[in-house]
Amino acid sequence: MSFSSKAWICSVCGYVHQGDAPPANCPICGADTNSFEIYKEPITVAAPPATSWKCTVCNFECEGNAPPGECPVCGAGKDSFERLAKEPGASAISSKALRVVIIGASAAGLAAAEAARKAAPQAEVTLLSKEHSLPYNRINLTRYLAGEVRREELVIHPENWYRDQQIALHQGSETKFLDLQAKQVELTGGQKLSFDKLILANGAHPFVPPIPGAERKGVLSLRTLEDAEQILDWAKKGGRCVCIGGGLLSLETAGALARRGIEVTVLESFGHLMPRQLDPQAGAMLARHLETIGVKVRWAVRAKEILGTDKATGILLEENCEVLNADLVIIAAGVRSNVYLAKQAKLAVQNGVVVDNFLQSSHPDVFAAGDVAEHQGLLYGNWSVAQFQGSIAGMNAAGGQVEFGGVPRSHTLKVLGLDTFSIGRFLPQDGSFIQVAEEYDGKYCSFVFRDNKLVGANLVGSASLAMAVKKAIENKIDCSKLLGDKSASAIEDFLKTQL
Ligand SMILES: Cc1cc2nc3c(=O)[nH]c(=O)nc-3n(C[C@H](O)[C@H](O)[C@H](O)COP(=O)(O)OP(=O)(O)OC[C@H]3O[C@@H](n4cnc5c(N)ncnc54)[C@H](O)[C@@H]3O)c2cc1C
Repeated sequence: MSFSSKAWICSVCGYVHQGDAPPANCPICGADTNSFEIYKEPITVAAPPATSWKCTVCNFECEGNAPPGECPVCGAGKDSFERLAKEPGASAISSKALRVVIIGASAAGLAAAEAARKAAPQAEVTLLSKEHSLPYNRINLTRYLAGEVRREELVIHPENWYRDQQIALHQGSETKFLDLQAKQVELTGGQKLSFDKLILANGAHPFVPPIPGAERKGVLSLRTLEDAEQILDWAKKGGRCVCIGGGLLSLETAGALARRGIEVTVLESFGHLMPRQLDPQAGAMLARHLETIGVKVRWAVRAKEILGTDKATGILLEENCEVLNADLVIIAAGVRSNVYLAKQAKLAVQNGVVVDNFLQSSHPDVFAAGDVAEHQGLLYGNWSVAQFQGSIAGMNAAGGQVEFGGVPRSHTLKVLGLDTFSIGRFLPQDGSFIQVAEEYDGKYCSFVFRDNKLVGANLVGSASLAMAVKKAIENKIDCSKLLGDKSASAIEDFLKTQL
């Protein structure tokens, strides 16, 4: 491969590397060189002149390119709004510094703050974080558990970076209440902050299914640095751990704890591992690998109860009333968006805060990005998508008009020592899809096509093709010539030529 770019972006964590060639491994998340693609500096959009709208029923005024769907004060419809004949720049917002408040300081919130700062240099940008630590790379928590990175290496920017960027970071500041009429957020402790534009970047929390005993000591989930510290405290004592759930997070956690000498068993209720990302053959190959690193896998089993008195001592399975002993139980059964603030403020919410292509919620001054946002029915649950959406929400809050058109969902496994990559529709949905799958040279490659275009893939054992696959899907490359051949190795050779 020959390189001409001077900057490269890691598709897993968004790290930008300056140089003639991508690095062998990402210094942030450890992804290999194949995870890097050419970095194109995002175009920062300057704010266009704002348009003002007035509700003819209650005189509520707001700004935006279009009137709101519904008046947030009196509920009157879009048609009740009239355009105000104000000179551009004479509006309440543009005559003074725009106040952008962002709730959540992780992938989406941080990217939003940076983008808003760039697009509106005069704006007051405030970043509110419930967590007490400086914003950190959440995706590296499993690598931290595994001992691959140190705590201080998780931190994204040092404290002075926020000062230099004039981003007011409030750590340990939980937003309790949104008042969209007064355009204020209320923090625990009663402090109120006014905003012109608000960005919800408050992410998601672990879903804990209603398993009796889930409240016992020693039953934990992994989402925050604090959770990781708690898990490490338990792990120090040694013993046995059961991870409930056969998804990406559960497997990475299991692999990390196995590396610390813990006896780990993963329970998956489905017939194979990572059912939302892998086809059965890929799942089976991954399971075989897990056994070699000391992680036992039990599939098609369900936890009926977490046993113990004060503290967890084991899991009772639904199947045959079998008991698995455990000192530590990790529940990794997926996440749920933190929609409570949006619901309380009566924003449109389904599984996440509903946003349009501008990442604007049902209120014209409120945007949402990352794990809290639902775009075209999709919740991505992905770090780099959260960053991407955050940048767009930040630019648009500053008055830009940038659209998010959706991206194919992709997943890369870390920690386990087996490259595993999944993207798009990795299983044929019906007869209109063609799957070409093969296990060869110690790896498994499966490609799914529809209408002569690649629409999804699973790669296990080698993810060197991940970038080529991603590009072929995004660029809708014509693969008609390949499909007669039906050999995964021929498809691999073809895709390599597309890089
Ligand atoms: C251990 C682990 C490993 C992962 N690995 C990967 C991976 O390899 N690749 C990948 O793409 N994704 C991975 N993910 C998922 C990825 O981390 C998320 O998709 C991403 O963090 C979403 O970013 P976000 O900014 O939308 O939300 P979050 O990261 O959830 O951040 C939201 C922030 O808002 C704060 N907050 C919530 N409510 C309030 C409030 N009321 N007031 C103030 N602050 C509030 C939260 O405390 C949190 O700090 C992983 C997740 C975990 C937990």
